[in-house]
Amino acid sequence: MLRVDVKKITALEMARCPNCSHAIDQMGKRTHCQKCNRQLTVLCISCQTNNSLLFSNCMKCDCDFRLIGVEYYSKEVAKLDFDLKEFYRLEELYKKATNLERIWRLTLPSALFLLATPCWFLSNNVWGLLLPFDLAFIGYLIIKIYGKKWATTKVKLPLEYAKHWKAISLEAKRQEVRKDEMEKQLDYYSRELSCFRQKSPDLNQT
Ligand SMILES: [Zn+2]
Ligand SMILES: [Zn+2]
Repeated sequence: MLRVDVKKITALEMARCPNCSHAIDQMGKRTHCQKCNRQLTVLCISCQTNNSLLFSNCMKCDCDFRLIGVEYYSKEVAKLDFDLKEFYRLEELYKKATNLERIWRLTLPSALFLLATPCWFLSNNVWGLLLPFDLAFIGYLIIKIYGKKWATTKVKLPLEYAKHWKAISLEAKRQEVRKDEMEKQLDYYSRELSCFRQKSPDLNQT
């Protein structure tokens, strides 16, 4: 009977914000007071239960919810970091390939054009006069058709990546945003964990 009473009292105490004594009926996934925004609970990410700042383990699934948070978000950050590093490496190659392709697109047609200019002096018909332009155009077409393939092979970037570059870089942008969020969560749980560990010796004594 006594146990029930103790539970009731703690439940009542938890239901009021210690800062502004605002009555908290339903926390849901909220961790802060609606009125003064003071942090009241820490969410256990493995069972989605809100735990009092005084608890060392989750009241529902008994896990060390701060540590679980740190472990989970460190893994997520590490995974995203790994993927993003690979993307940045490919991005460098992609930039090199694009530059190479641009240089070829500029130089090959003009080189062919110059090569054929003697025709202006040697030939005596209109076809000879047009030859430099024809060759320049052929050079342009060659680079248009094969440029990307050659350039990506030269910098050792798989052609598939170059072809789907827009989608790949969009996905990387999304991953950057996600990594930001995961890092914030990681900071949050790391802070909670170290605060709790600093405080817990006192708590154990009282
Ligand atoms: Zn409050
Ligand atoms: Zn839990």
